[in-house]
Amino acid sequence: MGGGRTADSGSWVGGPAVGRRPTVGVLALQGAFAEHASALAAVGARPVLVRTPAGLDALDAVVLPGGESTTMSKLLDSSGLRAPLSEALAEGMPAFGTCAGLILLARSVADGRPDQRSFGVLDVAVLRNGYGRQRESFEAPVPVDAVGEPPFPGVFIRAPRITSVGEAVAVLASVGGDPVLVSQGPLLAAAFHPELAGDLRLHRLFLQRVLERV
Ligand code: GLN
Repeated sequence: MGGGRTADSGSWVGGPAVGRRPTVGVLALQGAFAEHASALAAVGARPVLVRTPAGLDALDAVVLPGGESTTMSKLLDSSGLRAPLSEALAEGMPAFGTCAGLILLARSVADGRPDQRSFGVLDVAVLRNGYGRQRESFEAPVPVDAVGEPPFPGVFIRAPRITSVGEAVAVLASVGGDPVLVSQGPLLAAAFHPELAGDLRLHRLFLQRVLERV
């Protein structure tokens, strides 16, 4: 049994934690979803590619990958996934958003397309492609206390810049003074691409967080 909604309260609850291999959906409309699925399998989760509303059934958690947030926003509408995914997130389903996935979780998005919409569950403001032309894509070591040494290899690709965080948001790592890894309750979000780093520590951290909740 995976996580699900209680019939009475409608809020998200998980199943028993012991010996569980959590089922983690990876939004697979566009972008780097295959790499996330491999990383999740490697850390002991059961990844499921999500392309339809039925794909959200019985998930313990979901990953929103990097890619192009404007395209993903359109595909969320045409696939019928927007409303059920929005509901699951509002009910507290754990989620890991990376790069474009961070944009999809953010409360406020600057420099987006006028018709692009986010779920607004993570209390951060982001600036799309916020590192400017010179540094459009770069790699930088990301010191993350929660995973220890060495610093995590941060792969930033036309990354969103987190320009402000709300009080409920914990900043887990910063680069050059900007938060790049944040969490808020069941949500974890990175401005970079941990699935392209060849380093599983952040997927492992996410899985631990999911197991603590299910
Ligand atoms: N710039 C992209 C966007 O706005 C995000 C880039 C990425 O996910 N690598 O959606």
